[in-house]
Amino acid sequence: MAPADMHRPVQIIINPHSGYGGNRQKLLSLRSAFRERGLRSVEYVTTCAGDATRYARAVAPKTSVVVVWGGDGTANEVANGLAGTGVPMIPCPVGTENLLAKELRIPSHPRRIAEIVAAGQTVDCDLGRINDRNFLMIIGIGFDAEVVRRLSSQRTGHISHLSYFWPMWRTFWEHDFPRMRIVADGEELFKDYALAFVGNISRYATGLRICRDARFDDGLLDLVVFPCREQSALLLHAAWTLLRLHPLKGGVIYRRVHRVRIETDRPSHCQVDGDLGPNTPVDISVAPEKIKLMVPPQTNGWTFWPWRGGA
Ligand SMILES: [Mg+2]
Repeated sequence: MAPADMHRPVQIIINPHSGYGGNRQKLLSLRSAFRERGLRSVEYVTTCAGDATRYARAVAPKTSVVVVWGGDGTANEVANGLAGTGVPMIPCPVGTENLLAKELRIPSHPRRIAEIVAAGQTVDCDLGRINDRNFLMIIGIGFDAEVVRRLSSQRTGHISHLSYFWPMWRTFWEHDFPRMRIVADGEELFKDYALAFVGNISRYATGLRICRDARFDDGLLDLVVFPCREQSALLLHAAWTLLRLHPLKGGVIYRRVHRVRIETDRPSHCQVDGDLGPNTPVDISVAPEKIKLMVPPQTNGWTFWPWRGGA
């Protein structure tokens, strides 16, 4: 674990539309924290979807670390650009949910972020693959993807937790649960009405731990299938998930898998790391490449496991 290479600059990729991404004061503090530690930084402000991936890929050969100053969607984009390059990234909690930053326990204070960058401790993180695109955190098929679709169709800029209320309310009453066929590692696991998730980390929006036992470094993805055809079943699943007991209840399937194919009786939306992804059918697997993540010193993969002290 070498400290960050002082000869190469730290790249800060800024998404000005994420929660605090456009917060000038925080950004100023980050710049001066890097300067105080003798770290040269270069900034890039994204302008459209896909921009962060292109930029990260282009600057990887001349960069010590990429600081993601945005939300989970920006982290996903940067990871797609850095996959397999060996250049680490650090996701900062300046978006709405910040699932990855929370999983890694990245603090929000700029001075602490600079400390972590200067210390230079990294871990290898698995990447998932859905069709031809990488993901880092979690995929949802069915209900939550419909919420994301409704939200993105009316999104004009920065979103907050409140932005999800009406899309969720309307989806709750109007969603028609698809019938799914789920084949994991060559075995047909499920064929009925459901919503499903495939995750690389334990965290999900609003503090839920859908992929409760997921570890990002075990070379496997956690598959969770909630059999569900109506609102009452969904509420029950939500209650057990809140208590983190859902793998034991209501016929829920919880498996660790290498690859999974999900087909539905009609095209269904998928959300990928919080953004709208492809429609079903989808093939999801562990990608051959890994991504390096910068983490606070003295942490390892086990620390992130929820039952071993994960917050
Ligand atoms: Mg895993």
